Amino acid sequence: MNKHITVAAAPLLSLLLWSHLVVAQPDAVARYADKAVALLEDAISRETVHGQGNVPAYAESLRDVFLAAGFPAASIRIIPYGETASLIVRYAGDGSSGRQPILLSSHMDVVPAKADDWLRHPFELQEDDTFFYGRGVLDNKFDVSILTTLFVWLKESGFIPHRDLVIAFTGDEESFQETVQQLIGEHRDLIDAEYALIVDGGGGVLNDAGKAIQFQVGFAEKTYATFSMTAKNPGGHSSMPRADNAIYDIARAIQQLEAHQFPFEANEITLTYFERTAPLLNNDVGEAMARLVMDPNDVEAITILRAQPEYIGTLGTTCIPTMLSGGHAENALPRAITATVNCRIFPGHTPGDILRELQLIADNPRLEWQVIGVPVSSPASGFNPEIMEAIATALDPIHPGLPIVPEMGSGTTDGAYFRAAGIPSYSLTGIFINPKDSFAHGLNERVPKASVETSLRFWRTMIDELAGDAKR
Ligand SMILES: [Zn+2]
Repeated sequence: MNKHITVAAAPLLSLLLWSHLVVAQPDAVARYADKAVALLEDAISRETVHGQGNVPAYAESLRDVFLAAGFPAASIRIIPYGETASLIVRYAGDGSSGRQPILLSSHMDVVPAKADDWLRHPFELQEDDTFFYGRGVLDNKFDVSILTTLFVWLKESGFIPHRDLVIAFTGDEESFQETVQQLIGEHRDLIDAEYALIVDGGGGVLNDAGKAIQFQVGFAEKTYATFSMTAKNPGGHSSMPRADNAIYDIARAIQQLEAHQFPFEANEITLTYFERTAPLLNNDVGEAMARLVMDPNDVEAITILRAQPEYIGTLGTTCIPTMLSGGHAENALPRAITATVNCRIFPGHTPGDILRELQLIADNPRLEWQVIGVPVSSPASGFNPEIMEAIATALDPIHPGLPIVPEMGSGTTDGAYFRAAGIPSYSLTGIFINPKDSFAHGLNERVPKASVETSLRFWRTMIDELAGDAKR
């Protein structure tokens, strides 16, 4: 990976012109920021969780926004898939650069949220001085709203790209990720691109003082794989207990999993990430990163980093029990107990390797194992100077000189599928957030309000750099 990002003179010039333009039009950014927030408010009110059938109506409401901005009906496609759908919007370029399109991808669905557990209602956009709150406000409706607003802004300002820009909003990223597979398998012509910018994950990192310390770009992802292990038992009446019990079997296996430590692993992306992050943290965690880069056998450094939930995924494979089910009556011995184990597999291992390791850890040949879904392994995307330069240019008016750090995601975005299909994919967003405030998938999910305007400025420059006159 190239560590030195050179910004050529021509883009620098366009950057100067562009920053002047932004300064001259603060109202435009503010106006479109209001629009993005209105879209976000509507989006949060829609409970687009798996199985509720609410994604198609969300896609239709977004389609209306694109139509109202002047996008021809033929350039917008809603592609149904079961109870959900994808939305594709093509921003036609003049083709003058002869280059393949750029794909911009986010997802419209969210993970479930129980209103009773939240301080605020999860499906109502709420705010305080610093944050917006709501399910999906960070993952990923913020970026859906930003990209939609961005296309409207570009269209209304008469922008004509020199290559097509394609938005793909998928509809089940948080569950089975079948909509992205449908797009790749059946509608490749609609989404084919030189590369994809996955606007989900990555982005600006704030420290505890609220200062931007780095900008992350996802180049690779761990393999997401879920396994179930089931203990079966003849059962019987609870007044006549047997020595063996399916709950005991599963409890024992889970305790063994708890005690197991998958080995520490590193690759070029994770070591570069630690190397560039270490000097920015200025604490014992940063020190541990620096030590680890010097000596990957530094056990103490590994222990310090493993204690940090935001970094543990970068250190190797993780597997964790996430669900339990079983039993059929309070006065009956259980006939079957199933534990679900979710793994994030470090590149270089197959789900089959990890399943075998789990079976060894559980150490009970009577347990029955299953792979849930179809895990997808994807290669790391290659270094792309054009994208890295555009990011540097787009960040310059916002946070000049901010280090741009390659990242390996521990979660799975649709990017894994695009990568596996041969479309290099890079995860990034205009959101700047302290990882400690990132409650994606959790309670009281939030996003800093300041990220609305930052994102619009960031993406407007990105598009100008990657598809505007500057590079023609
Ligand atoms: Zn997401």
